[in-house]
Amino acid sequence: MKFYYPMSKKTKSKKKKVSPKKEKPISIYDKEFKTLLTNLIGPEAVTVVDQLIKRKNVSEFTVAENLEMNINQFRSIIYKLDAYNLVSGTRKKDKKKGWYIYYWTFHPERLENLYWNIKLRKLKKLKERLAQESKTLFYVCPNKCIRVNLHEGMEMNFRCPECNSLLKEDIPNIKKFEKEIKELEEELKKAGKLQY
Ligand SMILES: [Zn+2]
Repeated sequence: MKFYYPMSKKTKSKKKKVSPKKEKPISIYDKEFKTLLTNLIGPEAVTVVDQLIKRKNVSEFTVAENLEMNINQFRSIIYKLDAYNLVSGTRKKDKKKGWYIYYWTFHPERLENLYWNIKLRKLKKLKERLAQESKTLFYVCPNKCIRVNLHEGMEMNFRCPECNSLLKEDIPNIKKFEKEIKELEEELKKAGKLQY
């Protein structure tokens, strides 16, 4: 039996030339970047970056005042952002007061680099974990206190140091790691960060 479908609008529109997707601009307002900053430094880092993203060379005192932070609180955050290479600072002498004031600039493109570098490092770690998972046996406490490899299990005579239960052989987590690796590789490939 054959079915004939009338040509729907949807089918017709497929013939239209589809314009290529525009590259999404990097934005601190992206959830991923907010999460990244929060995990690396803390939620205050997001509020500081929020202030710095508006213009270049912002005085440390301006940001601290806007956020109702004292200058030392602000500096502890900005130094961490600097350690991750996300900001750059210049100092200028305040002629009236005679001391140095730092002016900071946030570099959003570096945030994106950091984001992908962390993902690449995570992928490497997952692959190492998968390799380990495939080549050695693992033992687990029936009360779920610990999970150790064969060597570690032998050292504790296959007794849980927490509850003294006898450890039992565990199923390797190969599927779990393979899934995580696949997802991560797909994300990295989509972004053009993976060369295979
Ligand atoms: Zn136990």
